Amino acid sequence: MRGLVVFAALLVAVFCKETFEGHQVLRITTKDEVEINLLKELSGQEDLQLDFWMDPVDVSLPVDVRVPFHSLQAVRAFLGYHEIHYEIMIQDLQDLLDKEQREMMRSRVFQPRTTDDYDYANYHTLSEINSFMDMLVQENPKLVSKIVIGKSYEGRELNVLKFSTGATKRPGIWIDTGIHAREWITPASGTWFAKKIATDYGRDPALTAILDKLDIFLELVTNPDGYEYTHTTNRMWRKTRRINTGSSCVGVDPNRNWGTGFGGAGSSSNPCSETYRGPGAYSEPEVRSIVDFTKSHGNLKAFLTIHSYSQMMLYPYGDTSIPCVDEVELDELALKAATDLESLYGTKYTFGSTFNTIYQASGVTTDWAYDQGIKYSYTFELRDNGYYGFILPANQIIPTAEETWLALMVIMEHTKNNPY
Ligand SMILES: [Zn+2]
Repeated sequence: MRGLVVFAALLVAVFCKETFEGHQVLRITTKDEVEINLLKELSGQEDLQLDFWMDPVDVSLPVDVRVPFHSLQAVRAFLGYHEIHYEIMIQDLQDLLDKEQREMMRSRVFQPRTTDDYDYANYHTLSEINSFMDMLVQENPKLVSKIVIGKSYEGRELNVLKFSTGATKRPGIWIDTGIHAREWITPASGTWFAKKIATDYGRDPALTAILDKLDIFLELVTNPDGYEYTHTTNRMWRKTRRINTGSSCVGVDPNRNWGTGFGGAGSSSNPCSETYRGPGAYSEPEVRSIVDFTKSHGNLKAFLTIHSYSQMMLYPYGDTSIPCVDEVELDELALKAATDLESLYGTKYTFGSTFNTIYQASGVTTDWAYDQGIKYSYTFELRDNGYYGFILPANQIIPTAEETWLALMVIMEHTKNNPY
């Protein structure tokens, strides 16, 4: 009997993946502040279990929300009654997720032995990405090494790829992907970047010149507990997997957990919120490890943190509308990066300070990085612009990575040419 119970529990653990059958994602366009406030009211109704992919903040931005099947009627009635305009962005979320799984399975058929065989046009699990990193290091021992900067809340290694061509300590460029678990396009792009760096060094003069002056640090899966959870249990998970004392809700938003502006508006004190800032600044080991690494390195010159979605490039600040002292330079550089990015496939980006472009957000990575004296600090929001949202089809991974790479190159070259 006991064996049976254990077996049943195991089955649940293996197969108990949250389903999103009948869930729709609605894109709501508001016309005034009154409608924004009505949506804020709606978001406060916890029984509806709404998941805002884009929060109601400003009439200039659409509001995207995942509505569980059981809440659809109520939400539609609410929007209809108040004559708020909406469209159905995703008809049935589970259909998209099933398709995503099928494509991942297709790639599983064979296990890559080298990074040349790796399927860059598909999404991968944490263990697959970890094997990729080990292969890349093994294949390029003179260029690539792996540093463990700490351990996650659940004890997973926080791995950073270091690309370096010099024995002496050089200034560095930091890039992180996957800090929000469900933004799968970001570690997928990051993996492509890693291979691109290893391939282009010594071949592409621009990248070679960068690496002859600067080291590049790339953390591919910045929130490994969350990422693993999106594969095993809940594809829509965003936060870390910290257990919050006194609450049944799990996780902290690692992009509200940084010290600069910690606790301000645009972050939540409610552990059940997707933007829960955590019990204190740097409470998350995933964040703390980057802080410790950055401080001990002491000479990072650019800090690029990659998210999805909405096609934006954001520089400091997020917690205040006061422009940062380098705003003119950061804005010009963003324009150049966005122009190059667009040149490849016509993908349009908007850019500006976090506060003015997206919304007020406190305790975010780039505000902290900038206040450490790292001038070229940007948050990227990759594809798309609200058609698939977080469930970007795998056939868009390579184009997304390719175009983003052009923008990264602009920023890295500028960093190399403008020492400070
Ligand atoms: Zn994000």
